[in-house]
Amino acid sequence: MATVLAVAASGAGAAAESGGAKPGAQSIGDRLFPYVGNGGYDVQSYDVGYDYRPGTPKMTASARVDAVAEQALSEFSLDAAGMKIKTVTVNGRSAAFRTQGEKLIVKPERTLSSGKAFRVNIAYVADRSAAPPSPAIPGQERSISGWYDFKKKGKEGFALLGQPDRAHLFFPMNDHPSDKARVTFRITVPKHLTAVANGTLRQTTSKGDRTTYVYGTRDPIPTHVVQAAVGPYTEITGTGPGGLPLRSYVPKDEAKEITPQVAQIGSQLAWLQKRIGSAYPYETYGALVPQGPYGAALETATLSTYGQLHEPGDTPVMVHEMVHQYFGNAVSPKSWDDMWISEGHASYYGFRYQDEKKIEPLKESMERAYEFDQEKRAEAGPPGRLKDPGEVLGATNSAGVVMLYGLNHAMGEATFQKVEKAFFEKFRHKNASTQDYINVVNKVSGKDFTAYINEWIYGKKTPPMPKG
Ligand SMILES: [Zn+2]
Repeated sequence: MATVLAVAASGAGAAAESGGAKPGAQSIGDRLFPYVGNGGYDVQSYDVGYDYRPGTPKMTASARVDAVAEQALSEFSLDAAGMKIKTVTVNGRSAAFRTQGEKLIVKPERTLSSGKAFRVNIAYVADRSAAPPSPAIPGQERSISGWYDFKKKGKEGFALLGQPDRAHLFFPMNDHPSDKARVTFRITVPKHLTAVANGTLRQTTSKGDRTTYVYGTRDPIPTHVVQAAVGPYTEITGTGPGGLPLRSYVPKDEAKEITPQVAQIGSQLAWLQKRIGSAYPYETYGALVPQGPYGAALETATLSTYGQLHEPGDTPVMVHEMVHQYFGNAVSPKSWDDMWISEGHASYYGFRYQDEKKIEPLKESMERAYEFDQEKRAEAGPPGRLKDPGEVLGATNSAGVVMLYGLNHAMGEATFQKVEKAFFEKFRHKNASTQDYINVVNKVSGKDFTAYINEWIYGKKTPPMPKG
């Protein structure tokens, strides 16, 4: 939930309509991904239904969007791609709609008043075989992101990978990290399969040979880290620090190999909580290992998803994704130019964990990250002003990590920890920009690190390697 970046902007050529209502902007104003996000409203929650049937990639689906208008709206848009929209209602009344590129544009029968809540109900057909390539990466056959439909691999079920700009293949949404919302999934599957999703299992109901699972998140989460998956999963439960309920889902026939890694989640969380000095931000945590293949490790909120978690050597990546629950999910980047806040912190604490567990000395991790940034920055641009949105997941790690390493050295561990805790707690369940981070650093440390941080995030050249 959110700061909308371009509230004032309106649709192209929009004239004032009845009562001064205008169309909402069809962009949220993100420099790197200008085609995602929409203006004029702030989403509070999504409630998404999927009816999964073996043998077809299509699912009868529904999405309920509860939002608050931030201007008087004559029409508004949502991000939606690769799906067939059947009907749309706004506040219970049938609404006119059209699709245009990756936008679903809705014209309610009555204009929406600024400051008022409104509800959109969309009936649609979700298509797991749809893989429209990201407009950010032209020419690419299909991005690593999108639906993972295991049917094609002769298995059953699916999983989601929305980051950075493909989550709106799954349901109509305001697909930008600055508009976080609570998410509910209600997924109906045949009895031999299990559905899982972000948050906590709220309800299961059975009818004949089919079961509906309802999961919901307590807190708002960014759209690019939604997860809903169906498969032959078994649940592994546990208890984390402070009694935090843990639950993980792994394929039944792979549980033996994966369980030893999953069993470390509680102690990893305790380690991380101590480092950051603040409690884990959500109501539950765990790992999902889809029966795969799944293209990446992704910090899906409250339930990180891993393509691979079968070996003891897979544990460092678990800490990286866990850090993202703090930085990236609970504290989300205000724009995609602030993605280093997410990736830099995740890698930094991940490397510190590896150092303490004697997997790799911190100095070596930092030298590797430094070399990577030196090579990458010339072609890709600085992490806060990337030339190519396709680099947003790969080129934002290293600079942030080395910057944080140098910052820690310059102010000392005790002050650094105060900074991190203060930053996290100030922006928990909100959004933060690079400037927001700089402000907290300067205030808590009592020194001015503005030039140091800006050089790392926006400088043309990699700054000198800091002392560690
Ligand atoms: Zn990451």
